[in-house]
Amino acid sequence: LKDDRESLFIVNEFARNYFAATLFEQQEGINVGQSYFKERGFREETMQKFQLGYCLDQWDAFTKAALQAGYQMEYLEQSGLTIKKEEGKAFDRYKGRVIFPIHNLTGRVIGFGGRVLKTDVKAAKYVNSPESLIYHKSETLYGIYFAKSKIRDEDNCFLAEGYTDVISLHQSGIENVVASSGTSLTTEQIRLISRFTKNITVLYDGDAAGIKASLRGIDMILEEGLNVKIVLFPDGNDPDSYVRSVGGTAFKEYVQQNQKDFILFKTSILLQDAQNDPLKRAEVIRDIVASIAKIPDSIKASVFISETSRLLQMDERVLNAELNKIKRKSL
Ligand code: ATP
Ligand code: MN
Ligand code: MN
Ligand code: MN
Repeated sequence: LKDDRESLFIVNEFARNYFAATLFEQQEGINVGQSYFKERGFREETMQKFQLGYCLDQWDAFTKAALQAGYQMEYLEQSGLTIKKEEGKAFDRYKGRVIFPIHNLTGRVIGFGGRVLKTDVKAAKYVNSPESLIYHKSETLYGIYFAKSKIRDEDNCFLAEGYTDVISLHQSGIENVVASSGTSLTTEQIRLISRFTKNITVLYDGDAAGIKASLRGIDMILEEGLNVKIVLFPDGNDPDSYVRSVGGTAFKEYVQQNQKDFILFKTSILLQDAQNDPLKRAEVIRDIVASIAKIPDSIKASVFISETSRLLQMDERVLNAELNKIKRKSL
């Protein structure tokens, strides 16, 4: 089993090098892949640092090259680099896509994300590696290898949604950033961050649906005893598009001025939703107190009770009574 894992690391390393060589040395890679990244504002040194690549738009160019080089079909399949049809025909998972290698804490490649160049086609925008002996999506944070020392230095971790958010921020000099890659946040991901800092600033895309869906995941950060702030970006921007339009310095200023404590942020969006409906307001109060109950530090929790008591226009004693009720239940 240990040898199987090692074989997967090795085949991924071959693939990373092959896709990078295609991006930098082959005509199609330069004209199609590099052009795409350049249009997105990625500099060449950035492509090199993140080991970006391109997979030719042919059925099995990569798979053939790997077999030719002596790699076994078994590992090509397990790593998801090659997809085998029932009839036995094999083709490249990432055909015609630009490639984002995904690294573990020590910098080894555990998987890949591949993006289509045009989102108007039917295909999924991103295709990612399947679960394998070395790739567990729920335990992975994109960019952690490149960010870990900066996260410790800054004592803060920016948490974004996508690959391109991480890369653009790095290129603009903001390196303490990782991405959850579209999944809702997991306890394992939060514990990974908490090895380097107890402070997370969530940088989510500005779509309202996404924000409401993410509230639960953020509650889990509180449960792990970390401090959470949240920043939203104007006019449908994500961190990538925003930092590209204003630059690194203005981005940091924007974050400083617009970051909100998560509990207060959650209170205000839920209250907006509830308007003046008394039953809905009661639900909001219960929901917020439940979030506060997840904070292990009781002094922090009581500071939040007084802060939210003002926002919710509800007596602190009532909130405290509810808090104690929830805590007794969960014992
Ligand atoms: P881009 O700027 O290239 O359009 P993005 O990172 O802004 O990409 P989002 O749509 O915001 O893309 O999604 C965030 C992340 O979710 C992506 O970086 C990717 O990891 C993941 N993701 C998005 N769409 C898919 C998909 N169809 N299948 C699997 N993962 C996806
Ligand atoms: Mn999004
Ligand atoms: Mn984007
Ligand atoms: Mn996005």
